[in-house]
Order: sequence, then C-alpha cells, then structure tokens
Amino acid sequence: MGKVYLVGAGPGDPELLTVKATRLLDRASVVLHDSLVSREVLALIPSTAQLIDVGKRAGQKLLSQDEINALLVSYANRREVVVRLKGGDPTLFGRAGEEIEALREARVPFEIVPGITAALGAAAAAGISLTDRRAASQLVITTYSRGEEPAGSDPFAVTPSLNWAAISGNTTLVLYMPGADYAEVSGRLLAAGQPENLPCVIISNATRAQQQIRRTTVAGLATESRLPAPALLVVGRVAAPQIDELTNVGTQVHPESFARRDAAPRSKRN
Ligand code: SAH
Repeated sequence: MGKVYLVGAGPGDPELLTVKATRLLDRASVVLHDSLVSREVLALIPSTAQLIDVGKRAGQKLLSQDEINALLVSYANRREVVVRLKGGDPTLFGRAGEEIEALREARVPFEIVPGITAALGAAAAAGISLTDRRAASQLVITTYSRGEEPAGSDPFAVTPSLNWAAISGNTTLVLYMPGADYAEVSGRLLAAGQPENLPCVIISNATRAQQQIRRTTVAGLATESRLPAPALLVVGRVAAPQIDELTNVGTQVHPESFARRDAAPRSKRN
C-alpha cells in the first residue's frame, strides 16, 4: 500500500511551491491534478510520473468527485507515492474534505502538504497587507459562486457561502469567485451596508505571467469589465493605496447593517 499526499501547488508561480511539495513531485509515481494548477508547476513534474488531469475544463467536469476519490484509493493500492495536486492550499475550497473521508474509509495512509492559498498570493502581488493594524482586525476568506444560488431565489439573498454577519468595518474580505458577476457582487456588498467608496482590488492570475490587478471601489466594481479566471477580490480598507488617508472609510458599518438582508445601499454615509 502506498500513500496519498494532498499537496498544495500554490497560486501559480512555481517558486511558491514548498520544498516538501517539490520533493514529493520529484518522487511521485502518479500525480492527479486540477485545472487550477499552473502550467509552470506541471512542467516541474518529471516524465517518470504519470500525470492525470482530473479537473474541470470550460465548465465541463472531466471526472466526478466520487470518481476522483475512487482513483486515489485504487492508485494507493498499486503505487508508492500518489500525489493529489491542488491549486493554492488543498484545504481551502479544494474539496479535500471528501477525499480525506474516502481515504480514511479505505484505510489509505495520507498526508496534507499545505500550499500558499490564492488570497495570500494575490495580496502579495497587489502589495496589500491583509491585516494592516491601521485598517483591519480580521480576515474573512469566502467564496462567491453563482452556481450555489438556489433556483428562483432573491439574487441578493444571503447564501450559506457568504456570511455577511462576520463583516465589519475592520474586516478584510477576500472573495474567491469562480464565475462571479461583478455587478452582482457590488450590489450585494452595498446591500449589506458596505460603503460605496470602500476600496477593492480585483486580482487575476496572481503570481502568474498573465497577472492583472485592477483597483476600484465597491460601487465601481459594478461597471468593471471581467478579468480572466482565476480571479479574486480583496475588499476592505487595507486595499487602499494610502491607508492613512482612508481611516474613516468603512468605520460606520455596524452589525445592525446586516440584520436586514434587504437593507438598501447607504450611499451617503461617507
Ligand atoms: N484551493 C485554492 C482555491 C480553489 S477555488 C486556493 O487555496 O487558492 C478557485 C478560486 O481560487 C478561483 O475561482 C479564484 O477565485 C481563486 N484563485 C486561485 N488561483 C488564483 C490565482 N492565481 N489568482 C487569482 N485567484 C485565484
């Protein structure tokens, strides 16, 4: 029986792989990877390893989660070092939970090797200190996905994926957003009481050659053209180029703002 390593590939730049991830890729008999793993990282994998793409392409699932779980178990029975390579960190929006459960059930030994999650790669790329003590005391990493909407629901309804109650004026919000519509995200943030001029930054392809960074505000987000995937959004006072000039932005957001999920945008608050 071999061992399965759930390995974080980081946000794209191969230099951001951990030493442990690099060493495991060198020794791997088989590597099962997602489409989020960058070409540059895949290029590091020696030809001695069998490379299997189990990710999604253009919305088309290549393999179901159950099929991936079954593959991991079956390879572990036949091969020494099985690497399950995931973009960023495997435990953040990476479906590692289901795979861990399947491996436990099948009594397959496994190990998690953390990676640099997209939020950290993106913040570094944009020169943002996510918990700058002058502007933020908490960091919320969450996701915005249109696919998770219950059919026919109010588009501004609170979904389980977005915990607006956790967002205060001293929060930095990082939105991982597969398939997000910027205007909808902007509307939701305003409806939840976020100030129109609260800075936000869209970061696409963080740490990769195609990286793009666009600075805007919560209101301005509505009219931004879409950047290529993968992209995420950093929202909060820490995203301002000059934090000292913006110390009052967002400070008037009180928990009451979130009590009513349909609260109107408060455009005149600043
Ligand atoms: N496990 C991954 C996240 C998977 S969810 C991690 O820890 O990073 C996929 C989402 O992550 C994408 O829709 C995007 O919002 C974000 N993402 C991943 N890589 C990114 C990158 N290089 N630049 C910007 N966003 C990225």
